[in-house]
Amino acid sequence: MTEPGGCAETGDLIPELAADTLTGAERAAALRHLAACARCRHDLADMAGLVDSITALAPPENPPPAFESRVLAGMTGNCCLAAAFHDGRRRVGTAFAYQGSPSWLFLVVQSASGSGAYRATLVRTDGLRVPLGEVPVSGGRGSWGTTIDTPVAQVGRIVLARPGAGDLVAAFWP
Ligand SMILES: [Zn+2]
Repeated sequence: MTEPGGCAETGDLIPELAADTLTGAERAAALRHLAACARCRHDLADMAGLVDSITALAPPENPPPAFESRVLAGMTGNCCLAAAFHDGRRRVGTAFAYQGSPSWLFLVVQSASGSGAYRATLVRTDGLRVPLGEVPVSGGRGSWGTTIDTPVAQVGRIVLARPGAGDLVAAFWP
């Protein structure tokens, strides 16, 4: 018997989360756990890696962010919206947004340059900037989650900023 909402159970559920076959209560419990547990977010990062390799098959020219967001949203189904983080030249990670009570954000950085904490800011579709917190990145990789008061439909983009490094931007809407 595994602890409901614990690591073992959530680990078992991540593939189902990716395949969007989870029911509401199980899905909510898994997402709650992911927001609090760095180890399970690592597994989610692996899932994001899978999404990365699929999108690598998409047209090679830099697609507009909105196009990519729609593609990713289609692949992750009802679980969440997803948008790619770009550093201006290439894709470096993925932002997941889940609409619920409360709503969640999961930020996964997979190939940034260097190490250090990135300051995360949510830019709403009305232009208001909401500070979120600091995302630890080590060796170019890191993941972080938080609850948000902003409805997911009003999440315009997520900006990660670090002194001496270029901004990483994930645009949910153009
Ligand atoms: Zn866990």
